[in-house]
Amino acid sequence: MAIGVQNGASARHPRWADVPEAEWSDPRWQMTHRLRSASQLREVMKLTEEEEGALGADGLFRVDVTPYFLSLIDGSDPQCPLRRQVIPTSREMEAFDGRLPDANSEIENEPVRGVIHKYPDRLVMLVTSSCAAYCRYCTRSRFVGDGQQNYGHADWQEQIRYVRESPQVRDVLISGGDPLTMARKRLAEIVAEIREIPHVEIIRLGTRAPVFNPFVVDDELCEIIEANHPMWVNIHVNHPYEITPELGRACDRLLRAGAPVGSQAVLLKGINDSVEVQRRLCTELVRIRVRPYYLYQCDSVRGAGHFRTSVTKGIEIIEGLRGHITGFAVPTYVIDSPGGGGKIPVAPNYLLSLSPERAVLRNWAGEISEYKGPSGYRSGTTPPLRGTKPPAPRTAPDVTTVSDRLSAPQPSDDDEGADA
Ligand SMILES: *Cc1c(COP(=O)(O)O)cnc(C)c1O
Repeated sequence: MAIGVQNGASARHPRWADVPEAEWSDPRWQMTHRLRSASQLREVMKLTEEEEGALGADGLFRVDVTPYFLSLIDGSDPQCPLRRQVIPTSREMEAFDGRLPDANSEIENEPVRGVIHKYPDRLVMLVTSSCAAYCRYCTRSRFVGDGQQNYGHADWQEQIRYVRESPQVRDVLISGGDPLTMARKRLAEIVAEIREIPHVEIIRLGTRAPVFNPFVVDDELCEIIEANHPMWVNIHVNHPYEITPELGRACDRLLRAGAPVGSQAVLLKGINDSVEVQRRLCTELVRIRVRPYYLYQCDSVRGAGHFRTSVTKGIEIIEGLRGHITGFAVPTYVIDSPGGGGKIPVAPNYLLSLSPERAVLRNWAGEISEYKGPSGYRSGTTPPLRGTKPPAPRTAPDVTTVSDRLSAPQPSDDDEGADA
């Protein structure tokens, strides 16, 4: 392969040094050998008091780490950015101001179980509650990792029926949980059924499994992708240490199967809240031909308080990327609206003043310039596209308005027991 990042293999933890390569690189082997308890984790790393405290606590959000991902962790460093993402600490148990059980009001936008419909032309289908490993800041920890709340055949049928009966939906995002933890036969059936719906133009898979278990990108998955184009894949990479030769090869296979691959990251205190780390992350992603898509502000969700940063920090990071690295390596920084209004982009201000005749601008290096507009410009002269009717009024999904949602009483911390 052409570039160095895709050759070779990541070092394994000595515990698995003797596992034959065929087993190690079998995605099922990685899943069945995951570590989930304090005693299992103690065998491969020295746990801190805070980690022991969390692992022994009641009501802990599920823990599960693949041997592959565990091998990337520095067991001697409690601050290792990969460790912090998957090994809980007692700080996860802390309450904080503004904490919400359902940080982006997904439940109110769920017309059928597991369909989140916030935008007119696209929706999210939650097909499973399982993931390959559990991110401690998970925004969907209200059901993710809970086998009791898993989705099954009857749910998928209802979800697909909803898509079929919603002609305005042209983009279906299959997520969860993680769809790549599902049996390939099931996933193939779901994707094929969606593909048969004439108004569905694109299908996306949202997955972090390639980061925790890159071997999930196998022949069967590539066949599903090839058989159902146009398909897009979005992965979730938070730190450059996650970009291994194995992940590089997995992304290469997805790309060769014809799916453009993007990545989203969550801005996390002490993990990736620095310009240096984000620059490296974004430039390493484009080296494996993955395009940074979104950088998310960390949601105000239970268990994630200690990971939150200020919004100012996010703006500072984008300032440190735009103009400094390849334009398409810069993600859009977004806050997922707590009122359920969707993702809201927030950006540094490069526009210092604006009128129809004049824009005063600041560039990435801080230099000021002026763009003089045409005098007497009037819009509306572009002819409508051939063969199209005048645009129909926008049909929004049948949900409450953002202002309704925002004015609804906010749940207090006391209300949270039910979602444990
Ligand atoms: C993120 C998201 C989408 C997709 O948004 P894009 O900006 O098109 O990537 C769709 N629906 C919901 C509910 C989402 O959270």
